[in-house]
Amino acid sequence: MRGKTHLAAGLAAALAVCAPQSLTECAAVCIGGAVGGLLCDIDQHAGRGMQEMKSARWFAAAGSLAVAAAEHLAVGGLWRSLTSQPPERQLAGVAILALTLWKGFRSEHRTFAHSLLFVLLVSVGCGLVCPPFAAPVLAGLVSHMALDLLNKKPLRLLWPLPVTLCLHLCASDGAANRWIGRVAAAAAAALAAWRILYFIHP
Ligand SMILES: [Zn+2]
Repeated sequence: MRGKTHLAAGLAAALAVCAPQSLTECAAVCIGGAVGGLLCDIDQHAGRGMQEMKSARWFAAAGSLAVAAAEHLAVGGLWRSLTSQPPERQLAGVAILALTLWKGFRSEHRTFAHSLLFVLLVSVGCGLVCPPFAAPVLAGLVSHMALDLLNKKPLRLLWPLPVTLCLHLCASDGAANRWIGRVAAAAAAALAAWRILYFIHP
């Protein structure tokens, strides 16, 4: 699927699965869901849909910075969580993330960065560095893999095993992509509104 669809689906999946109970959790879920939803395509550097992917990446980066800044000014819970972890644990997390993302960046599209091993390593790395991001990032990554499995280009889900999987149900850039993107965006907006109402009237 295309960048905007993955971004919306990652947000919706994280909001649905994690159901944040505080402003800090809400910020972690929005940032983690958006980043997780796009991260598998770290292996995409060219081709059709690249312009949309770049736009989605910029939108996610700017939105994440804005949400993090707002949360920091209002509560500061993410910063407290980031600075309260044991340094050796965070160092291990940073090393895992750096190696995994480097390997993903250099891999062929839809191979290592679209595997269960990539999902596991990124989730564990996030959990070691800043625990509130682990579950939302995992939800975003899983949503990405689930959507890409619908396409006609196979994934190396069990990398390094030479097994390829796809359901051949739709093209990654056709009507299905557009409709899934719209439904995911509507679901993300509805779930976010529901969370806002929960904060107003718990
Ligand atoms: Zn992908």
